[in-house]
Amino acid sequence: MQRKWAKAVGLLLCLLLMASLAACTPRSSAPEEEGDQEGETLLTTDIVIVGAGGTGLAAAASAIEHGAEVIVLEKLAFTGGSTALSGGGIAATDTKFQRAEGIEDSKESWMELWKERQATSNPDGMYPDYDFVDMFMDEAVITTEWMADTIGHKYARIEGFGLDPVRRLHFPERGGREVIESLENYLKERGVEILTETPGKELLTNEDGDVIGVVAEGPDGERIVIEAKKVILATGGFARNEDLLARFVPEVKGSSEITAAAAGSTGDGILMAEKVGAALYEEPWIIGLGVGTKVKGTDSLMMDWTKLYVNGEGKRFASEQMHYAIATNKIIEEGDVWIVMDSAEANADLIAAMEEAMPTDEVAKGDTLEELAEAMGVPVENFVATIEEYNQGAKTGKDAMGKDPEFVLPVEKAPFYAIKAHPKTMGTFGGVKTDEFYRVLRADGSVINNLYAGGECANKVLYNQVYMSGSAVQFALTSGRIAGEHAAKNLNN
Ligand SMILES: Cc1cc2nc3c(=O)[nH]c(=O)nc-3n(C[C@H](O)[C@H](O)[C@H](O)COP(=O)(O)OP(=O)(O)OC[C@H]3O[C@@H](n4cnc5c(N)ncnc54)[C@H](O)[C@@H]3O)c2cc1C
Repeated sequence: MQRKWAKAVGLLLCLLLMASLAACTPRSSAPEEEGDQEGETLLTTDIVIVGAGGTGLAAAASAIEHGAEVIVLEKLAFTGGSTALSGGGIAATDTKFQRAEGIEDSKESWMELWKERQATSNPDGMYPDYDFVDMFMDEAVITTEWMADTIGHKYARIEGFGLDPVRRLHFPERGGREVIESLENYLKERGVEILTETPGKELLTNEDGDVIGVVAEGPDGERIVIEAKKVILATGGFARNEDLLARFVPEVKGSSEITAAAAGSTGDGILMAEKVGAALYEEPWIIGLGVGTKVKGTDSLMMDWTKLYVNGEGKRFASEQMHYAIATNKIIEEGDVWIVMDSAEANADLIAAMEEAMPTDEVAKGDTLEELAEAMGVPVENFVATIEEYNQGAKTGKDAMGKDPEFVLPVEKAPFYAIKAHPKTMGTFGGVKTDEFYRVLRADGSVINNLYAGGECANKVLYNQVYMSGSAVQFALTSGRIAGEHAAKNLNN
């Protein structure tokens, strides 16, 4: 094994060099050692981690901390995944960082908010598993402190977000990229290399169904077989995979076109695990990021509470001042939704973008409210009554849907515009079932030996249909930390 490992390190260096020096001789040109096949490279390690986003890098750091050797595979040319695109704020309650700032917080308060939000849709949903959520909240505190004390990550501020009342999101200075950098620095200092442009393709199993490694594909398409005692799947969700959206959440078919999720979010790990018998969580869903549009230059509408939304009946259906994940769910529920605005100066940039895109089915315009309703294809009478009522609320400060007066701006200056609203996602809920150590389970509840999954590969357990601010990056780091530690401590079990 020792000899094999020395050789593996050499091969890894070659792999990395090849990424920058096309001149490196392909290592797959000849059998490398006994057992190698023509055109195939064999590597061995303790733990192979598939995916170099928040989950994967936390798993790698935790495994290294507990004495294991790791190989990290990343499909893209760069690390980070959705974690790097995120705000990087991780939620946790009653941390030493909150206490130092005099912030009073408790798990109970977060749990109350969690339950309230999860109850806003799908009332008979099977998830969350609140025992798991409770455990996650305890572990989140440990992760938040571990990131600082062990990894060397720094928090620049602790904040609430949007409608969240308590300051419990621990943000670094520079967002999610900094979370990734902190973990990468920790790994680099300990000699761990990440193999980019090397997607994991399938899991290797023995005759008992135990996982014994991964088959990957190198930058030039070469087959790389990595034998390992443990495998951790950390490939994120499936928001970028239209086939999986059609299979799991047909309500948002087409949303991959405008998702904010990272390019690698194609569900690879979930499919790899399913192939070796993993049970998938029921009722997969999306992580909502407010209201999407398909016209360039109109992204600011994603969380703009000053506009009003009307459905196919020409009626408002909610106060627009709602949590962004709930807004996405409402858009899905209503099906046909328009965002309405007038020609007020504040809308000038949006109008310019919409004019540029016209003619398009995505935008409607009218010199009168009646004309706009016709262009939208909604009942004229309803629509005009809706706008009149809204404008009345703007005057009196009493919105019919209870929106705060500062967000209720009258719709009165012609011409009038409406733009189609679409569900905007930043990830998915779903993935493979795991136990509390993030070991992957079969449908009968038995563990698939040596296989772990975390982050968006295994996150449905925490949610019904509503994402909780700061919980997804926290879950990535927490599930990665726990899986990495458990795998490292149980290499021979
Ligand atoms: C724009 C945006 C903003 C967000 N803001 C927040 C926020 O503020 N707070 C919060 O809590 N959550 C936020 N989220 C959600 C959160 O970032 C994600 O849910 C979480 O970071 C996912 O972590 P992950 O490790 O599961 O996946 P990722 O971070 O996406 O990592 C998965 C990695 O695996 C790689 N990969 C995929 N397939 C393979 C393969 N076959 N082989 C090898 N590698 C593979 C991917 O390329 C990627 O690098 C946000 C998401 C987005 C997109």
